[in-house]
Amino acid sequence: MQFPDSLLSIKKQFADLPFEAILKTDLLRLGLSFSPEALKVCASAKPKSYFIFSFDRVAQKDLSEIERKSVPEEIALIGGPHDLKRTIVSVRVNPASPYRIETQTSPPGPLSLVRRGRVEGERSDPICDVILPSFPAYYGVPLSSGKPVADIAPTIEWGYLIYLTAFRLCQYFGAEEECQFCDINHNYRQQKNAGRPYTGIKSSGEILEALDIINQKDTEKLSHAYTVTGGSVTSQLGGMKESEFYAQYARAIEKRFPGRWIGKAVVQALPEDEVKILKDAGYAIYHPNYEAWDKRLFEALCPGKSRYVGRDEWIRRIVESAKIFGPENVIPNFVAGVEMSKPYGFETIDEAVASTAEGLDFFMSQGICPRFTVWCVEPNTELSKTNSEPPSLAYYLRLLQVYRDTFRRHRLPIPPGYGEAGVGKAVFSVSAFMDVL
Ligand code: SF4
Repeated sequence: MQFPDSLLSIKKQFADLPFEAILKTDLLRLGLSFSPEALKVCASAKPKSYFIFSFDRVAQKDLSEIERKSVPEEIALIGGPHDLKRTIVSVRVNPASPYRIETQTSPPGPLSLVRRGRVEGERSDPICDVILPSFPAYYGVPLSSGKPVADIAPTIEWGYLIYLTAFRLCQYFGAEEECQFCDINHNYRQQKNAGRPYTGIKSSGEILEALDIINQKDTEKLSHAYTVTGGSVTSQLGGMKESEFYAQYARAIEKRFPGRWIGKAVVQALPEDEVKILKDAGYAIYHPNYEAWDKRLFEALCPGKSRYVGRDEWIRRIVESAKIFGPENVIPNFVAGVEMSKPYGFETIDEAVASTAEGLDFFMSQGICPRFTVWCVEPNTELSKTNSEPPSLAYYLRLLQVYRDTFRRHRLPIPPGYGEAGVGKAVFSVSAFMDVL
């Protein structure tokens, strides 16, 4: 493990970025571990649901029993010597990370985030306090089938988003078709092997039942949106093409709970008639993720999407979908960092950031605001074979600057369906894009 430069020198170098966003990005990039005492405290918090991918730096089989059960979905960073504002971060387990959650000894009780010493026995530097997400009341109520709500309708983003992975597999299958950074198929197998309730294809009925429980028990109305997503459907699933398969869920949800949540569909870039099916079903927001902007990289990293749709057609469809959803409601994701992955990626930070900036400018100039997630180098993905570590923190911080500046230059509205933007308010937990707007 390469320990990054001291946080203070990075803070000085990127003084125009909130330190909260810097730390959040580094935690997403490197992951974190927990002391045994901290895990005991975490046991009563909201556990990690593995809502779609593993988002861990190690396989389930390499985690202890208590890690598998007690690692929380997210943590909130707050206070400490840097006086951090509350910052929500998704938890990515990595026993080798320099970041660790420990129990405070003086006074005993609350949890701290520390930066471990570079050598065994060296003092750990405390960075801030850590707040855990409380175990939601709706997680304690099983469905009539006995399935837990956390399997069918887990919530993330500090309770803001209900994450409905309707299809936990992808029909792009194997090294020749799967996106090279994606572990959806592997993660499904490992979660089943670990004995976790992990439904492969969810029915509308069980999703409605889970939502009913959430609607009743979420008395503070923390949940504001739902995402319906899953693997790509290249032929048919249950006799339906991709748009019809994913449309059935919004149709059912909006009929039962009209307008209760903002509906989002994370599916492929589909032809216009299929995009219309999604819109008519009741989705308000469409996420046709483009993963990496550069054409050569898209083709190398997304071989299935390239073969079935093609990069230029993918981009054309994203732009066309703005006519149906409205440009502000088309929010395609890219996986930040894969543009620097070996062996296909750019050699330098300048080249990688310039390429991504070109894509941002292309979309934002048309009113479409992409968003990004920080790449987690998950084991058993194709890219993990050639990338033991993620790109540098400096790369990610340059990207955050470019993202923020491009967004401001085009004077776009805050993307809908993500809650409030800004430090201390953002809840999006897998990148700091909302923290810097
Ligand atoms: S399309 Fe690619 S990123 Fe999406 S689930 Fe399939 S393999 Fe993963």
